[in-house]
Amino acid sequence: MITRSFFLSVTIIAWVIIAPKKSFAQQSNRPNIIFIFSDDHATAAVSAYGDERKLINTPNIDRLAKEGMTFNRCLVTNAICGPSRATVLTGKYSHLNGFYNNETTPFDGSQQTFPKLLQKAGYQTALIGKWHLISDPTGFDHWEILVNQGQYYNPPMIKDGKKVQYNGYVTDVLTDLSIDWLKNRDTTKPFLLMCHQKAPHMPWEPNLKYLKFDNDRKYPEPPTLFDDYGNNRGLAWRDQYMSIAKTFNDDHMKLNPPVDLYEEQLKEWNKYYGPRNAAFRAAKLTSKDSIRWRYQRYMHDYLASLVSVDESVGKILDYLKAEGLDKNTIVVYSSDQGFFLGEHGWFDKRWILEESLRTPFIVRWPGVVKPSSKNDKIVSLLDVSETFVDVAGLPKATDMQGSSLVPLLKGESPTNWRNSFYYHYYEYPRWHRVRPHYGVITDRYKLVHFYKPDLDQWELYDLKANPKETINYINVPSYAKTIAKLKAELSRLEKQLKVPPISEEHRSDYGSAPFDDPALMPLNSQKKKGEH
Ligand code: CA
Repeated sequence: MITRSFFLSVTIIAWVIIAPKKSFAQQSNRPNIIFIFSDDHATAAVSAYGDERKLINTPNIDRLAKEGMTFNRCLVTNAICGPSRATVLTGKYSHLNGFYNNETTPFDGSQQTFPKLLQKAGYQTALIGKWHLISDPTGFDHWEILVNQGQYYNPPMIKDGKKVQYNGYVTDVLTDLSIDWLKNRDTTKPFLLMCHQKAPHMPWEPNLKYLKFDNDRKYPEPPTLFDDYGNNRGLAWRDQYMSIAKTFNDDHMKLNPPVDLYEEQLKEWNKYYGPRNAAFRAAKLTSKDSIRWRYQRYMHDYLASLVSVDESVGKILDYLKAEGLDKNTIVVYSSDQGFFLGEHGWFDKRWILEESLRTPFIVRWPGVVKPSSKNDKIVSLLDVSETFVDVAGLPKATDMQGSSLVPLLKGESPTNWRNSFYYHYYEYPRWHRVRPHYGVITDRYKLVHFYKPDLDQWELYDLKANPKETINYINVPSYAKTIAKLKAELSRLEKQLKVPPISEEHRSDYGSAPFDDPALMPLNSQKKKGEH
């Protein structure tokens, strides 16, 4: 008699023999990816990176560093918000993805991006937070973005094409939305979540509950706060419009309250800033003392806005752990570029100089990345796309211009890893009159060409001899051979990366617009005009 169990066994054997192999997209062991991307976060303001000023403690970002790998030299391709985001998505430089400057030409969302590749391969994809690429996001099953640059308090957002209004502080709102999305996701698929914070971007408006976070600490000043731009440095250094001395206005200084606060919130804001502003006005500071006061106010606001970013990282990590997702989820913390925190007397970014060129990049990948590891290789946001394509087990996208970081994350040291890097900044004159420039970067040197509109000036910095980058060595005879080698390397990179010849079309989106010192415009007016 043929038993029921016999039938069952036959059925199972037959199923094993004839069932098709699970397609790649159905494999369940592919890691999830959470990419936490803040805006304008300088490495000097991540305690895991260490900094002589010890500006802030970021225990949650540091937790990622303790459990993962910290990249010490992650460079950006073009140090402003939109272009950096376009590079992350496409794995391409601005000259190939077409997004050179903020707010001029919309990002071409029909081009290939890594979220599209992951989505096609069965990943569930979401983007929540700052987008800033003018066109609507593509390649995401769900997206909810801040309007333009976004606002810190009570932000309106666009959810899958429709406007939604939120109450509260932007970092908290974005964190809650990210965790809600994780809770409601399709658990049968691996996921990619890009959580893009607005903070600590200008105007550095803190979470009201953290206004007193530093107990009125006096922050150490950077040695270059009163930089005189000497040592053979050119016009670009002197003619910028991004200094705490010249460019900081009443809104930057929080002498005016933000326009987005509700009545109760405004009371709280005034309770903190009111007496401090009154004391500042009464002191009638002049010259250097006024700059020092502004620097202190700037540090308070910038760092206070980071407290919530760090807290957000902690909330996301706690959620992953509570849900048992931590083991199979890669978490990356990064920012779209660095930021000047008073170095050279500046705020803002844009320059090929270390403070803006370098960005935090920390990766936790349990079981693959050795905890507390550090990497000094030159890596870039250009590598993000290929890294995630590799992590998802997909074939290399041959049109991308970076390299997968997976071998580095595994602790390998590939002999053919890049030892030079190409950089190009275009936006001029808005917002800060920083001269367009391009250059080549190695572990020790930077050779830079400032070229527009009235410049044709080369500069050489030597990070070993002068880590603060305050000396231009271009005319020093002992550097002649080095300069020749760097020029040859620059040409090689331009060829390899398909850099087109300099063209007004690419480099001057504001070409005929009158320059009206927009950096002096009150931030509240900038908001009305769409901000930058
Ligand atoms: Ca930015």
